[in-house]
Amino acid sequence: MRAMQTPSLEVPREHYFNFRSAPFLAFHVAAIPLAFWVGFSWQGVAWCVGLYYLRMLFCCIGYHRYFAHRTFQLSRVPQFILAFCAETTVQKGVLWWAAHHRRHHRYSDEPEDIHSVVQRGFWYAHVGWILSERWLETDTKRIADFARFPEIRWIDKHYWLPPTVLAVLLFIIGGPVAIVWGFVISTVVLWHGTFTINSLMHIIGRRRFDTSDNSKNSLVLAIVTCGEGWHNNHHRHQHAAAQGFYWWQIDFAYYVIKVFNWLGVIRNVVEPTPEILAEGRRKIAVPPPHIIHAESKAAASAAAAAAAITRQVSYNTV
Ligand SMILES: [Zn+2]
Ligand SMILES: [Zn+2]
Repeated sequence: MRAMQTPSLEVPREHYFNFRSAPFLAFHVAAIPLAFWVGFSWQGVAWCVGLYYLRMLFCCIGYHRYFAHRTFQLSRVPQFILAFCAETTVQKGVLWWAAHHRRHHRYSDEPEDIHSVVQRGFWYAHVGWILSERWLETDTKRIADFARFPEIRWIDKHYWLPPTVLAVLLFIIGGPVAIVWGFVISTVVLWHGTFTINSLMHIIGRRRFDTSDNSKNSLVLAIVTCGEGWHNNHHRHQHAAAQGFYWWQIDFAYYVIKVFNWLGVIRNVVEPTPEILAEGRRKIAVPPPHIIHAESKAAASAAAAAAAITRQVSYNTV
């Protein structure tokens, strides 16, 4: 008789300190001494805030609303420019970013979700998965619609190039103050501003829509992230270019999309449907859903596997 095998409940061991995570850690370590070296100035603050909001817009409109969700259409030249601009945020290649984000929506807050705060806790959802060696590769099948463009594959592979060009330009234009405040410090703040969507936006805020995940809406985080704080809206209708569905839900990224739509650069902007808008008006503060945790799902599948083997054994011995 075959020995009975019970599926393992253990999560694979993570390795956070590796060659690919070194630049992320180096920026954090360097930011404070560099700030003391160039000193505080309002000019430095202006570089920091300006580059933060400019690149947050690139991140929202480029990585998220275009490459991950195709909420509008572009021709190939502006598509490449948007990919280049998005990568100045130092968040790896557009194909890597969008493929992983599509997986988040496919399995939102289920055990297979890469960065679910509900499943893996705050630290892993915020930065742990970024540092981990487990998620370095791109599942190109998930992003085949954009991976078919050779110039997009090229800029995805050379994702270090746009931040390098930005850093050199800042140094030429503004010297050490611009590169320290506008690039190093601004990038660290930008990273954590972006990562709040994966961590805080599945914990803090109110739920307007009854989605199967724990996504929430927050005005404060919408201001910090150029509109991405309307995360519960976004999980309800991920193909809409707007994440603020109502006039009072501030969404800077959507306003920029509409301006470029008006200029003729952006086409076919997807809007939230009247049915979804009406649904959101009816429901206020929807309670969180029942979410199955990884441990209970693994335990349930282990029990099911053990029961199946037991049934097989008793069938064979009858
Ligand atoms: Zn989410
Ligand atoms: Zn999304």
